[in-house]
Amino acid sequence: MSERRDEMSVGATTLRLMEGEVKKALLGVLERVSAASKARTPELAALCPRPRLVAVSKTKPKEMILEAYTAGQRHFGENYVQELVDKANDQQLLAECPEIKWHMIGHLQSNKVKKVVEIPGLYCIETVDSIKLASAINNAVKKTENEGKLKVFVQINTSDEENKSGVHPDEAAGLVRHIQESCSHLALAGIMTIGAFDHDLSIGPNPDFQRLLKCKARICEECCMEPKDVELSMGMSNDFEHAILVGSTNVRVGSTIFGTRNMKK
Ligand SMILES: *Cc1c(COP(=O)(O)O)cnc(C)c1O
Repeated sequence: MSERRDEMSVGATTLRLMEGEVKKALLGVLERVSAASKARTPELAALCPRPRLVAVSKTKPKEMILEAYTAGQRHFGENYVQELVDKANDQQLLAECPEIKWHMIGHLQSNKVKKVVEIPGLYCIETVDSIKLASAINNAVKKTENEGKLKVFVQINTSDEENKSGVHPDEAAGLVRHIQESCSHLALAGIMTIGAFDHDLSIGPNPDFQRLLKCKARICEECCMEPKDVELSMGMSNDFEHAILVGSTNVRVGSTIFGTRNMKK
């Protein structure tokens, strides 16, 4: 595998050298998404004809977002509130990427909600993990000019690790019901998990993904939802094809498209 450049501040020469790399990597990932989609069972394919690729651009410069956008990518994911706010309000991105769709995929605190719901191009928040946060987002959306509901995913902690965010699987249906009954400005898009980073697929399917599938079945039953109306956001660079094969409708891929990241800025 060729090594890819990963500097935040790159000179013009370096940038020119990188040009084409993001596009090439993106098209490679799209091909793999498409191949995995075609390898699904007819039942899964019927639920979601085309799984969505979210290009995770956290810590990466806007030039890379522009290159991916120009190559046809529309959905982008960011983890950190300030970085999302800055990129979504960037004059050049606003002018040249009018159809960009931002996914907030990082942990969100209630006191930062207002900043996020006000950004232009916000498509969804994938990390709703408490009743308090859902209500805060709902109230913030109510106060914006935006018509229509904001899509949200309930993030579930499928690996039972204290340090991971996400609602406990047993509490997921209750949170979904709260969104349905008390958050008239939110629309539940589905459920999301991060899961173990280092699962070895040679020993079997990723248990986090299997647990998310179980959560979905429970939510459909307890909250009277149709399976096709509950998306599954699961799968990252190292396991997105497996995630699609077992039912993911929304994969979040960063380093395979944009190169490895330095640790959090
Ligand atoms: C960083 C991140 C990703 C992308 O990870 P890669 O391994 O670089 O593809 C996906 N989802 C979330 C929630 C992330 O924080």
